[in-house]
Amino acid sequence: MIPRRYERLKQVLSKRQPDLTVVTEDVHKPHNLSAIIRTCDAVGVFAVHGVNSNSKVPTYSQVAQGSEKWVQLHTHNHIKTAIADLQDSNFKIYAAHLSPEAIDYRDIDYTLPTAILLGAEKHGVSELAAELVDGHIIIPMMGMVQSLNVSVAAAVILFEAQRQRLAAQMYDRVNLDPETFNHVLFEWGYPELAAMYQRQGKAYPALDEYGNIRN
Ligand code: SAM
Repeated sequence: MIPRRYERLKQVLSKRQPDLTVVTEDVHKPHNLSAIIRTCDAVGVFAVHGVNSNSKVPTYSQVAQGSEKWVQLHTHNHIKTAIADLQDSNFKIYAAHLSPEAIDYRDIDYTLPTAILLGAEKHGVSELAAELVDGHIIIPMMGMVQSLNVSVAAAVILFEAQRQRLAAQMYDRVNLDPETFNHVLFEWGYPELAAMYQRQGKAYPALDEYGNIRN
């Protein structure tokens, strides 16, 4: 790996925000999922949770521009367990949901561990999810159309989260623990080798200061 590439990977990874995430509930159109992942990469989201109650493996379109390589996608079969797992890990989950009790998305403190739940293209957030989350947020709509495209809604909310986190200097420190940082750095730098080590059930080798594999 050339040193410039290694430095770039480290720089991007050091800005990742593991305590900011997105849960997509049956968002099934590849271009929407891809656009959401691409925005997550831009904002520094480390991992996204995709709930697919129809258990289809999500696919990406060219809209992702390869960003799916840089943002982990954890898939879940049930919204209930996806929400419970995140709440057990101290996340507050806010459903982007056009309900009467929804509050303005800018009134949330996104510097705290936060998950943003986005609903399906046609049916929106399910009744169950709306009940289980910690609150509902809305992007005020002043026009004739009732809702935004789901990937647009994701971008609006995530860039507010980014604004707040920039103001709180949360991009100026490394937020991943060293073990995760080094693990993911190896996978980003050496994807084929990482896959081979995984198949063999072996730990990844350490890298030296230039990103070369230590012998
Ligand atoms: N008919 C659906 C409904 O009533 O929820 C519309 C679904 S909308 C196309 C897809 C998703 O985008 C929603 O579930 C929500 O997560 C998000 N979304 C779209 N516009 C939004 C807005 N103005 N405020 C908050 N979330 C929004």
